Amino acid sequence: MAILPIAIYPRDEKILRERCKPVTKLTDRTSRLIEDMIETMYDAAGVGLAAPQVHVSQRIFVYDIGDGKPDALINPEITLSEGDEIGPEACLSIPRLHGDVPRFTRIVVTGLNRKGRRVRIDAVDYLARVFQHEIDHLNGILFTDRAIQSSLYEITEEEEEERRAEGRKKRRGRGEAGGGIHPVEDEPI
Ligand code: ZN
Repeated sequence: MAILPIAIYPRDEKILRERCKPVTKLTDRTSRLIEDMIETMYDAAGVGLAAPQVHVSQRIFVYDIGDGKPDALINPEITLSEGDEIGPEACLSIPRLHGDVPRFTRIVVTGLNRKGRRVRIDAVDYLARVFQHEIDHLNGILFTDRAIQSSLYEITEEEEEERRAEGRKKRRGRGEAGGGIHPVEDEPI
């Protein structure tokens, strides 16, 4: 496994603004990419990471909202969405920026998981938020496009590093406990 370089906005605007292509065939390369994306997400203390964020224009994202069971969604499609809620978000591709984003509270998503099996996931609350953020990435949309503009604020690099270290520590703690159940809602997606 390898840690991949993360695309940063606005430097890597081109890849981050592309509409990603569907995956037509699952190959060993796809599996390797997914493994590397999971490692990269953990290294950055994120809870989700989309392929364009590692410079790959394909409809894939990985996630782990805190149960220690990372998975991927390939070619995700939202088939149902309902409810509204405003909540905090941040993004590994837009360092230090935080803000409040309106999202659906429940979505149903279909796609392929990391093993290539067709899945249908009924996601609510935080998982639904993470999925919407990541699916947006696959369409070239960033959380700052949807955020309430007056809610956006920037933290310092020191604060960001502290949060990241804290996120890694929490994740390690969860790992030792055999996978905790507490979603960590202050980590960037
Ligand atoms: Zn993001």
